[in-house]
Amino acid sequence: MGEVKEVIVVGGGIGGLAAAYGIAKLGKKVTILEQAPQFGEVGAGLQVGPNGLRALDSLGVLDEVYKQAVFPRRHVFMDALSGKELSAVQFGDSFQERFGYPYIVIHRSDLHSVLLKACQSLDHVSFLTNHKLESVKEFADYVELRCENGAVLQAEIVIGADGIRSMTRKLVSQADPVVSQYVAYRFTVPMSEMTIDIDWDEKLTWIGPGIHLVQYPVRHKSVINQVAVFKSYKYNENSDDWGTAEELHQMFGESYSTIKESLKFAENGMITKLFDIEPLEKWSTNRVTLLGDSAHAMLQYLAQGACQALEDAVCLTEKLRDNGSNIVKALDEYQQERIPRATQVQRGARTWGEIKHAEDSVTRLLRNTIMLNRSADDYTYLDWLYKERTLTTV
Ligand SMILES: Cc1cc2nc3c(=O)[nH]c(=O)nc-3n(C[C@H](O)[C@H](O)[C@H](O)COP(=O)(O)OP(=O)(O)OC[C@H]3O[C@@H](n4cnc5c(N)ncnc54)[C@H](O)[C@@H]3O)c2cc1C
Repeated sequence: MGEVKEVIVVGGGIGGLAAAYGIAKLGKKVTILEQAPQFGEVGAGLQVGPNGLRALDSLGVLDEVYKQAVFPRRHVFMDALSGKELSAVQFGDSFQERFGYPYIVIHRSDLHSVLLKACQSLDHVSFLTNHKLESVKEFADYVELRCENGAVLQAEIVIGADGIRSMTRKLVSQADPVVSQYVAYRFTVPMSEMTIDIDWDEKLTWIGPGIHLVQYPVRHKSVINQVAVFKSYKYNENSDDWGTAEELHQMFGESYSTIKESLKFAENGMITKLFDIEPLEKWSTNRVTLLGDSAHAMLQYLAQGACQALEDAVCLTEKLRDNGSNIVKALDEYQQERIPRATQVQRGARTWGEIKHAEDSVTRLLRNTIMLNRSADDYTYLDWLYKERTLTTV
């Protein structure tokens, strides 16, 4: 048997890097295993709420993140059909006072780079690219990882941060990702080419029957990130031929003129069919645990997938710190704390998606009436998500 590594993190996405950095700062030697030829992120924008920023602060990288961030003044919800404002969340002083942190939007690669540089600054973090994990086997004293390139590695602790189609997850669950029938077109447009008249100090979400569009600036407001999401009625479990550009334009056919104008760039973007997983009852074995999308892939409607991965990273770091050599206890305490929280957010994301995309007129009337009647500084419904590690009911 070769060298047994102290910790291997499988997957160098935002979750994996955050965990690797936190754990390496405890003094542990960490190896990050990544299938891709280089570390990086796909897609453009990412929203990070106060809970995600709290985790980044705890990891000690918040100042670097802020240098790359845009701080929207409000999150405005617009009716995708009438073009009228329905509701807003004010991100000013009262928001920050309540949750301890602001709300930022950032280019994914910029956040990923901050975390990668933080890991690279520590001599005892090593990086293995072109290493696609193929199988995981757990023994009493170590875990064995076999990769597609023939490499065989052993580690005392393995953290599976290998995303929604996680190989590591197979140790605790055989369940497949769940298709939602929704598709996201993610596209960016240089600010100089935007032809619509919008206040780019704000983040916009246009909501309508079976559709929504999110728009916000990133990279010092030089680029607008846009995500157009729609339900595909052509979904067929035996075919990949659904979620086409034709359907996109059809689904947004009745939407407000500003949206239609924005969508003229959509086809240059990246198409993502949207899946989540059912909440898991178990994340940890004796020496292996899951983190991020591998543990709790969720629909993006609460903008929480990466934020939850960051919460995981901090929690796991704390449990490993507090339990010394007792790995089993650390990984168990980690899952005990994190599963209920992540489950709540996974379920909440599904529900919020249904509310946003409501198709029947009565539900939309009720939703819009509630939205129109709340004030922009009423944060009560956000406490469960953004306040410090609370588990109140939604
Ligand atoms: C349209 C959309 C919008 C979103 N918006 C937001 C948002 O605003 N805010 C937010 O918080 N979240 C958002 N999310 C969710 C967020 O993108 C994810 O939850 C987050 O990126 C998950 O990070 P991760 O590190 O767990 O997984 P990933 O980013 O998927 O990283 C997994 C890594 O593991 C590697 N890997 C996979 N398999 C293997 C293997 N077998 N061997 C080795 N390496 C492997 C992959 O190459 C990858 O680098 C959004 C998601 C979508 C789809």
